[in-house]
Amino acid sequence: MNDKEKNSHALPKDHPRYQSLKYRHKIIEGMKTLVVAEAGLIAHGRGECFDYILGEKTNKTAKKAIEAAVAALIIAKNPVISVNGNVAALVPNQLAKLSKILKIPLEINLFYRKEGRIEAIKNVLEKAGADLLFGLDESKMVELDGLESNRRKVDQGILHGDWIMVPLEDGDRTEALKKKGKNIIAIDLNPISRTALWADITIVDNIIRVLPEMINFAKKLKTLNIEQIKDIVKNFDNKKNIIETLDLIKNYIEDQKQNAFKNIKS
Ligand code: ATP
Repeated sequence: MNDKEKNSHALPKDHPRYQSLKYRHKIIEGMKTLVVAEAGLIAHGRGECFDYILGEKTNKTAKKAIEAAVAALIIAKNPVISVNGNVAALVPNQLAKLSKILKIPLEINLFYRKEGRIEAIKNVLEKAGADLLFGLDESKMVELDGLESNRRKVDQGILHGDWIMVPLEDGDRTEALKKKGKNIIAIDLNPISRTALWADITIVDNIIRVLPEMINFAKKLKTLNIEQIKDIVKNFDNKKNIIETLDLIKNYIEDQKQNAFKNIKS
């Protein structure tokens, strides 16, 4: 990339779309280095769309789900975090940090397999400091029944996992994992995706905000006793939380109807 091309991405930090464009750029760069699949760009765009109508912030329903998710990962016997290309491109450092704090392995699990992709993602995660990694050797993977796609292949982390966190996941695999008796934590900006609806704990928020918040909760919840942590999971009602999230979207749209044009001057 020449200097002119590099500078075309340079945006002033006070630009109203600075954050969104910064992460969009990370996804594009990830595609150039094989970390992100072409379809990952489209998935990111779908996420951005939902983020807009959630007000691009961590809502109170997301906070509740994040707290329950961290509590579930603490009490789990074999927790694991599934990592795809978009996730590795967007939040490698935070993934490595959460994995360390909670001693949870990361498992690279890809829909679009291509020579060199696993290696590229492994390098990104290792550079970020991750050392508990599964999903590196395809020849050692086993197949989940009930799935046609490449993602039927899983490694030891997901195979033996009791609580599996699946950020930016597709519905078919979430459903297959549920049918295998796994407990699922989803991170998905779309509150009515099949993944969001199948999961046990659905965090409707952007992964770029979720991971730092999970790290904060991990530090906080580790100071509680095990019964208190179990209660947080037991008292969390996913269906209710998703319905409340849909209400937040409805209210946000209603508010935009009243106020969106106020700052627009011709
Ligand atoms: P499903 O099969 O579950 O109905 P889908 O076909 O939309 O959903 P994919 O496109 O495979 O599933 O998954 C991408 C999902 O990830 C989308 O629901 C999208 O909203 C969400 N997503 C994309 N980027 C982000 C992000 N940065 N943070 C959280 N969620 C995201």
